[in-house]
Amino acid sequence: MPATTISPPSASPTLFTFLAFDAGNRLAVRRVGTGLELAFVGSDLDIAASRLEAHFQHHTPVAEYFTVAASGANYRVFFAQVEGVPVGDEVQFLSLEQLAAGRADLAPSLAAIIAGLEPHLMAIPYLHLGENDYIYRFRVERERNHEIYAQDPAARILYESQLCEAIKALNRTNERSANRPATLDFGAVRYVIPSHFGFCLGVKNAIERAYETLAANPGRRVFMLSELIHNPFVNEDLQRRGLRFLQTDKSRPFTIGGGLAQPGDSSPLLWDTLTGDDIVIIPAFGATDEDKKKLIRKGIRVAQFDATCMLVEKVWKAARAFGREGYSVIIHGKAEHEETKATFSNSRRFAPSLIIRSLDEARLIGELILEPSPARTAAFAERFRVLSTPDFDPARHLVRIAVVNQTTLLMNETVSIIDFFRGIYRQKYGETDGDSHVGGSGRKDTLCYATQVNQDALSRALAELPDAAFVIGGQNSSNTYQLFRLCEQALGDRAFFIQSEENIRSLDNVQHYVFPVASLAHTGRMERRNFPKEMDAMRILITGGASCPDGLIQQVILRVNALFPATRLRPIEDVLGDCKASIPTGG
Ligand code: SF4
Repeated sequence: MPATTISPPSASPTLFTFLAFDAGNRLAVRRVGTGLELAFVGSDLDIAASRLEAHFQHHTPVAEYFTVAASGANYRVFFAQVEGVPVGDEVQFLSLEQLAAGRADLAPSLAAIIAGLEPHLMAIPYLHLGENDYIYRFRVERERNHEIYAQDPAARILYESQLCEAIKALNRTNERSANRPATLDFGAVRYVIPSHFGFCLGVKNAIERAYETLAANPGRRVFMLSELIHNPFVNEDLQRRGLRFLQTDKSRPFTIGGGLAQPGDSSPLLWDTLTGDDIVIIPAFGATDEDKKKLIRKGIRVAQFDATCMLVEKVWKAARAFGREGYSVIIHGKAEHEETKATFSNSRRFAPSLIIRSLDEARLIGELILEPSPARTAAFAERFRVLSTPDFDPARHLVRIAVVNQTTLLMNETVSIIDFFRGIYRQKYGETDGDSHVGGSGRKDTLCYATQVNQDALSRALAELPDAAFVIGGQNSSNTYQLFRLCEQALGDRAFFIQSEENIRSLDNVQHYVFPVASLAHTGRMERRNFPKEMDAMRILITGGASCPDGLIQQVILRVNALFPATRLRPIEDVLGDCKASIPTGG
């Protein structure tokens, strides 16, 4: 992190100060009488460091962040995260919010440095990490906490499925057919199950973190910034166990009464009640800088409970790298989705950034790149005003671009957008030079493998020409909707987007969810559809999005089975036996 200067250095003496933060992002300050001062200052780096280390044996490597002029001196400001409690009473940790509330007691140098912290707040929780480190790495198998999925009957129904386990066991032991869809033959109905479906590693990591946090902190308030994942049943199960949400997936805050804050409503928000004793889990989608900064100022441990998926963070790192290389960042995503909001929030720190939703929007930008005109510039400003960084200037910021994406969209669409921009810049700058205007050699760099694997597996299952398909996932689950789109393209209105078995009421009444494609608001609707009941020995494809627990998949299978006469169905034990028999000997 390059150091910045807040006020021009003068001929005044230079002092060195260490800002020591604890894991709760609270700053160590020195109490002198009724006032508060910088805790660790020296006329050179070694003196300041020795004062820091007299109190804290363990600290992260120190890094310089900025210089500020105050009280007749230039202060060079270094950050470190420290462990332990300070020696003696005079040094104590206070949150930035507490320090702001006691502004009158702050020495001028401390007040000036706190005022200069704002651009660097986001670094504070992650001082223990290097630039290439990930906040929350995927757990390897031996670190996974399988017990949380079977801790009681409610968890078992939600998360466990004998049928899904049998299919996975088959895939694990039969590498040659591991990519082929499995068939569960119940007689009157057969199910085609793609080789990959349901929970991704990012979701498993976030779920385990949430349940573990609740179990390890009885008596403490545990919040989730918003939904942990886009599955209502998982979120409800966590709420039943005491977890509370601060805001909706569309960033609408909850009041302390549990309702949604309404315009003009003065009810206190849950956000307002947070203290450093509370726990706030950041979901797999990540969080915006704005939300994280609020937590940092309150002295809440951010990094410890940050369950941001490392593949989302990989997108942030790509955006940062592109920004440093001088590219503007175009984010292919849904502006209303938490992940895209978080990615935009990260990207704007490093590059002029812009969110586009589709190839059609890319085409509008392409026209502006090739043939700029006042009318096209005005149309761009109108369309992208809230979707771009405030100073985004098409004349300057569309000269070199790089595309990153919301991880859960269809890969082909992002690739089409990148190809489209390559074509535009080749037209404008020639075949050779054009490519240097589009960043990123690896086209799939920021696509999530899990989303892609589920999509590819679904395509292979659709190639077996099933009669109908149920795609299971939350209404706000983007990756589930992409799976549904693939099914709809192949099967038309015999593809159903459902949330659980409860949406299958009868043969002529399936509650299909119509996803709000074009709207920025969450305005999807349920639509009654018929099930294709005239078929005999029907073949039904069933899959689940990356946030769909296996238990729901099994419940849907059992619900569809119940639509057929029991006399025409094979028992589940026989179907499980088929799977077992398919495992190669010695597998
Ligand atoms: S879908 Fe991909 S990016 Fe999203 S949580 Fe899962 S692994 Fe991470």
